[in-house]
Amino acid sequence: MARFAFFEGRIVPIEEARVSIRTHALNYGTGVFGGIRGYWNPEHEQLYVFRIEDHYRRFLNSCRMLFINLPYSLEELKQITLDLLRQEAYREDCYCRPLAYKAEEGIGVKLHGLRDAFALFAEPFGRYLQKEEGARVMISSWRRVDDNAIPARGKITGAYVNSALIKSEALLAGYDEAIVLTQDGHVSEGSAENLFMVRHGRLVTPPVTDNILEGITRRTVMELARQELGVPVEERTIDRSELYMADELFFCGTGVQIAAIIEVDGRPIGGGKMGPFVKQLRSLYFDVVRGNLPAYRERWCTPVYETAVGEEAVEHRERVVGSG
Ligand code: PMP
Repeated sequence: MARFAFFEGRIVPIEEARVSIRTHALNYGTGVFGGIRGYWNPEHEQLYVFRIEDHYRRFLNSCRMLFINLPYSLEELKQITLDLLRQEAYREDCYCRPLAYKAEEGIGVKLHGLRDAFALFAEPFGRYLQKEEGARVMISSWRRVDDNAIPARGKITGAYVNSALIKSEALLAGYDEAIVLTQDGHVSEGSAENLFMVRHGRLVTPPVTDNILEGITRRTVMELARQELGVPVEERTIDRSELYMADELFFCGTGVQIAAIIEVDGRPIGGGKMGPFVKQLRSLYFDVVRGNLPAYRERWCTPVYETAVGEEAVEHRERVVGSG
């Protein structure tokens, strides 16, 4: 568990990071959040935070939607996160949870003119979905929150009641996850992850206008598929029945990473086991996020520690071993 938090402007012991029951965000779900993974690379003796700037860019956009004004720039949020991780001194994979919320205390539903706050904690984290190599899923009987009700692209705390309804229904019915449809019955995403389908040699994923969260892993997957795996990617609306006929299906997200879906509504997908594309993508993804590929490390992996092994040693070893 986390030992520290960034709370009310400074790093404090986690026990001191508490809010009143009168807090607006607790009463009305008026907060936005992020989820950022840190990956420990034992060879480099380094903790790499994956796409931290992209996560905070989305976070600040979510804030705009809820009229949340933070006194921090993107660069400052990044610095606070690195400071907290150094304080925790993690040498294992971890998950950072930034939260921006209406901290005003008292009764009254609205968004503007209220006191805002920022908090952050980070804890050790392994798998979010146990069955990453083969999840059995159902189509949820719930529908995804609509952009005209609670915008899914906002990563708004209150909207996760929708995700929780979807997830609990699936787990209680004996599935690992669920796929949720939009109000008009098209495929949207998982309870907390984006979805891709492999069909006719193409990668297909619902467009950002189908009430999905604009996932950073989704963007990563699209880039890796096009640039590294030579697979064309299409963003288009997907019908429910197309899922049953997919060659491969998978979820992606910061938490779930890349998870193969091997069954939808009792119908096996691609022979009921992880397919070759997902297998290849998973292996590439883990190399990228753990900082093993220099070109992507430079762009997407922010080192937390000064250097343990040292940048030069890592580069030397890469030249000798010839990796990346
Ligand atoms: N959709 C939802 C509803 C999510 O909560 C998440 C997790 N943040 C995702 C998709 C995946 O987004 P990302 O790749 O940015 O983590």
